[in-house]
Amino acid sequence: MIKADLHVHSCLSPCADITMVPSVVCSKAKEKRLDVIAICDHNSCANLESFTKACDVPMLSGIEITSQEEVHVLAYFRSTEAANRFSKILKDHRPKVEFEPETLGYQLIVNEKDEFVAMEEGYLHVAIDMSLEKIVELILSFDGVPVYAHIDRLFGVLYQLGIFPADDRVRMAEVRTKEGWQKALRSGYIPLTNSDAHRPDEIGCRFTRFDLDTLNSEEFFDFLKNPDPSKVLTIWG
Ligand SMILES: [Zn+2]
Ligand SMILES: [Zn+2]
Repeated sequence: MIKADLHVHSCLSPCADITMVPSVVCSKAKEKRLDVIAICDHNSCANLESFTKACDVPMLSGIEITSQEEVHVLAYFRSTEAANRFSKILKDHRPKVEFEPETLGYQLIVNEKDEFVAMEEGYLHVAIDMSLEKIVELILSFDGVPVYAHIDRLFGVLYQLGIFPADDRVRMAEVRTKEGWQKALRSGYIPLTNSDAHRPDEIGCRFTRFDLDTLNSEEFFDFLKNPDPSKVLTIWG
């Protein structure tokens, strides 16, 4: 059984704590006995490489994108390289918004030794100039896996739109509540539960179990591409 937390922010996200650096995230993940984690920063993959190099807990390359409709959608990629190429395209569609880091939070790019090496320019917590449908298309064109993030709270698809879009290319939906879990199941989605950690002590506070024998990152990604619902277990079943 694989214990996974597939939604963790790093110090790159302005809303995340600046202590979310590779060594801290990695040791917390081990403390919580997570077998795999995914760093999913807002609209950028700039910290993925350092985290992947630094952390010996298997890492899935991820991102959390804000669509034009202000819906958050997670995406997972087969490699950091694919994620970075995706992130580059996304940057061209990211409105350049000046911001005050002192009030809105710092966007820190780190190296694998936890050292701050640069600051990402332009506020990351903005809506990308692309519809949800186009974003899903872009994720799929990079062989990625789209997942609706925290559907049942602010910036979640049900919260923002009231309904799930008619798009059967999205198979999984992250939920926060039992009610959200039931709604996702009723609409034919495979529910995931993740922490959406912005602080170290939140890592692993919610997780999903995958009924898989071994964790080979290629195989795990292939499973997410074509998930078997009976092998994905949230805290509610
Ligand atoms: Zn979010
Ligand atoms: Zn998030």
